[in-house]
Amino acid sequence: MREEIKILMLEDSPSDAKLIQRELRKDNMLCNITVVDAKETFVKGIKDFAPDLILCDHSLPGLNSMDALRLAKEISPDTPFILVTGSVSEEYAVSIIKAGADDYILKSNLARLPMALNAALKQKRAELQLRKSEEQFQQTIDRMIDGVQIISYDWRYLYVNDTVAAQGKYRKEDMLGHTMMEKYPGIEKTKMFRMLETCMKERVLLEMENEFKFPDGSMGWFKLSIQPAAEGILILSRDISDKKIAMLQLEEQNMELRKINAELDRFVYSASHEMRAPLCNVLGLNALAKKQQDEGQRQDILEKIDGCVARLDHIIHDIVHFSRNSRMDVAKEKIDFSELLNKSIAQCRDLDGVERILPSIQVYGQEFFYSDFSRLEVMMKNLLSNSIKYHDPKQRNPYVKISVHISADEANIEVSDNGIGIHEKHIDEIFKMFYRASEAKSTGSGLGLYIVKEIVEKLGGTIRVQSFVGAGTTFFIKLPNTPVGALIS
Ligand code: ADP
Repeated sequence: MREEIKILMLEDSPSDAKLIQRELRKDNMLCNITVVDAKETFVKGIKDFAPDLILCDHSLPGLNSMDALRLAKEISPDTPFILVTGSVSEEYAVSIIKAGADDYILKSNLARLPMALNAALKQKRAELQLRKSEEQFQQTIDRMIDGVQIISYDWRYLYVNDTVAAQGKYRKEDMLGHTMMEKYPGIEKTKMFRMLETCMKERVLLEMENEFKFPDGSMGWFKLSIQPAAEGILILSRDISDKKIAMLQLEEQNMELRKINAELDRFVYSASHEMRAPLCNVLGLNALAKKQQDEGQRQDILEKIDGCVARLDHIIHDIVHFSRNSRMDVAKEKIDFSELLNKSIAQCRDLDGVERILPSIQVYGQEFFYSDFSRLEVMMKNLLSNSIKYHDPKQRNPYVKISVHISADEANIEVSDNGIGIHEKHIDEIFKMFYRASEAKSTGSGLGLYIVKEIVEKLGGTIRVQSFVGAGTTFFIKLPNTPVGALIS
């Protein structure tokens, strides 16, 4: 099917208009022609009729062809414009072509009109097609997953696509025309910039993974391909931050796991070592008991065996507490400190010398406190039993004082005694696994304070100690108040 061509003809001579129409019909063209002869109707025609092509007579009263061309370009820049004129100077013809007309035809040579008209239409269509595909190409590059940027020899952003703007944390218009150094001060001192320089000078393709610090302090990781381009260099960039962050987290978890593994190794080694000592004693004492004739001495040996077994039991007991603390989820329950402390004191009733020591409990604050009851019980029992075990027999009034201050955010617990105290050379060591600071007195496992510290950390708190030999020891514990719903990091 032939396509109808809409033609707007600016012509004030009806006879010339007819002549032109006849010429076009001769060529069998399917034309829909509107003839206008004044500026207003010309403008209206371009707007309302929306022609595929404009034919313009050279000189109409009040509107010459140059003005008509300007109007046409203003209103519909893509519509082909052909000048049809009786006579025109060569200079004028050149100037109107330069101004944007597609062709000019002399009325004396109208036979050329159909060909010129077809050529102008074809040319316009090709131009439009090219522009469209350029726009599509531009859009495709703009929206590419990879960043594309072209940097000039003087380090200015000549082109950046949407992705580069997003990656670079700037708007495109804030980057274009500016230098890299203006946008990222200090960039010239980076390894990446040295690569860009090498590509700029040596015209070679380079690839790298780049860790980038943005002016706002945040970090990003990019895979870059740096290539020579006519204007300078072209950089393709892919944001690999998510992958990198996941890798770093994995590395961190790996390190954490290795640390836990090493700790476990150390624990197994120390625990077996600690358990072997009382076991060996039991074996030795047992052999001795077998040979012993004197009943009194045999009883002594059997008591010593009891002591060793009790110690072994103590160690196993502590190991179970330690393992429970690392395994079990942290509970968040309402804590009644009086109940908790009385229960912990009751658990120490079999310790040597307990009858001499007066415990005192003070709880301050109206707020409810939420934490993990059984962990707190183990913690308090360990601290209280130490105050009892390491009391000073020379003290006339040995005591252990427990005070608790509760607020909406935390509980501050102090456990203080007037016992033998801890020498300062041991202070930094006492929270370590199987560490005993006073071998002579300790029948314990050396795990008590290690467990206390682990519990406090698990509950999100802190612990510190102050002690003076011969004066006594105070433990200060700060625990967060964690109502249901609150998180312990
Ligand atoms: P142990 O089983 O030896 O009691 P802990 O881990 O509970 O192990 O304590 C480590 C060391 O810290 C103890 O051996 C003891 O020397 C010292 N210690 C702990 N609490 C006190 C205290 N209240 N008074 C004096 N020394 C203490």
